Amino acid sequence: MTKGTIVKALSGFYYVKTDDGQTYQCRGRGLFRKQKISPLVGDRVEIDIMDDGDGYVTKIEKRKNELIRPPVSNIEQAIIVTSCLEPDFNALLLDRFLVLVESKGIEPLIVISKMDLASEQVKNEMAKYQSIYENMGYSVVLTSSKDEELFRQLIPYIEGKSSVIAGQSGVGKSSLLNALDPNLNIDTNHISESLGRGKHTTRHVELIPLFNGLVADTPGFSSLDFREIDSEKLPAYFPDMVAVQDDCKFRGCMHHKEPKCAVKAAVEKGQIPSFRYEHYLQFLEEIQIRKPRY
Ligand code: GDP
Ligand code: ZN
Repeated sequence: MTKGTIVKALSGFYYVKTDDGQTYQCRGRGLFRKQKISPLVGDRVEIDIMDDGDGYVTKIEKRKNELIRPPVSNIEQAIIVTSCLEPDFNALLLDRFLVLVESKGIEPLIVISKMDLASEQVKNEMAKYQSIYENMGYSVVLTSSKDEELFRQLIPYIEGKSSVIAGQSGVGKSSLLNALDPNLNIDTNHISESLGRGKHTTRHVELIPLFNGLVADTPGFSSLDFREIDSEKLPAYFPDMVAVQDDCKFRGCMHHKEPKCAVKAAVEKGQIPSFRYEHYLQFLEEIQIRKPRY
């Protein structure tokens, strides 16, 4: 018995990378059909290796989490990429991704890309956002796929983890992966394609080895996932609000129409940036409209 991770699934085969770095082509066993569980890329599994070098997956370990877009399990980190320019920095979209990632219990890493394009003014602006998000406890990396010193700063965040990369199309996700490993040759249009609106991605996902970590070759999350979020849980996905909400008068305060709300007080004092609170209210409304209470 050997343990490993499924890094690719194709035509009934599962490609399992074992902990000593070997990859085996494996089949699943009928067992999974009985258990109503089918192996997923990202699964930690036990395999038996046959004499011919192929293997059988004999056991799937309990998943820590499971994503739909892309279909992958046990993701530990979501690298949320947002460019400073081309397209312009978009805090609303960043917050949307943060909420989606938080709702899955995945650790976010915020990456601001294309810093080579930034003027002094844009650099100052990005530094301001960096400190806002760092104060909430997030890690923020300012980078560029055109500057080796800058993109190499991502390496320690990738090492030893299983990550998915997320962000609007055109922000430079594939360029960053290609810069980190020129052998990858990820087609710069290809990675953003499956982010398409509404359509379910049928593409096969693959976990690619990168600096002793694994990164999904298909971008993660879509605004569709917002439907799965429970409005009651929304405040928990804003760490800056969580930090003060114990002082709200009402337990379970939604920081909206309630009196004596510590979050609203913190926004008034400038302790919580007003754009964060505005985004919170916008998301709350979106979720409530989509899920009317009858
Ligand atoms: P993706 O859709 O997020 O994967 O974005 P791509 O990697 O395909 O990049 C979109 C466009 O931005 C391409 O034309 C890239 O050449 C360009 N680009 C990507 N990263 C950078 C960067 O760090 N600096 C600059 N100036 N352009 C970049
Ligand atoms: Zn409150």
